[in-house]
Amino acid sequence: MGRRKRKKVVYRPVRTLPKIFTCPKCGHKTMKTNMKFSDDKALVICGHCGEQQEVPKNEISEPVDAFGNFIDIYYKDQEYDRLTRREEILKEKGQYSELALVYSFLSDNAQINAEKALEEFEKYKDPADLENAEKWKEAAKQYKENEKRLLEQLKAGLIVDAELEENIYDEEEVNPFGEEQDKPSEKPKRRANIEEILGDPGFLEF
Ligand SMILES: [Zn+2]
Repeated sequence: MGRRKRKKVVYRPVRTLPKIFTCPKCGHKTMKTNMKFSDDKALVICGHCGEQQEVPKNEISEPVDAFGNFIDIYYKDQEYDRLTRREEILKEKGQYSELALVYSFLSDNAQINAEKALEEFEKYKDPADLENAEKWKEAAKQYKENEKRLLEQLKAGLIVDAELEENIYDEEEVNPFGEEQDKPSEKPKRRANIEEILGDPGFLEF
């Protein structure tokens, strides 16, 4: 009669964290992490295309954290590359107002990289990080100056935007998952190729 005593079953969801991830470069679910790479870094590597990156970790980092760090770095580099490509196109096509805008994005981007490098230096005390931070800071400053100079010259009428064409970027904006799909990456990428950027005479001189 009375209520049947039922054993209460508590379902506790088992928290399973993913260990294999989708590679943003080749699109295959073949990205793994080596959490024992070193005391303070994990290695994130794609078994299909070879994309790889060392990322910071701590004692409680899980593979998913390492992958998150990888994604941050990966897209930051992509964004930087995209902006520097735009810079070239805009210079070529005489689109100075938009070029000034791209310089302001580049400056912000470089500033963020400087801060990140500085954070890493504080954590790991690797002088290379400090050096990187200084370079990024300098790059941020130069981009800002380029922006300012362009805006001043536009205002003074020393330079004028060329007539705007439609789809100015079309030929250059390639699908990131396109052509390079099956090529293994040649080298592990460090945050961004700062040497290339600073060695490049890309900064405008008028
Ligand atoms: Zn891949």
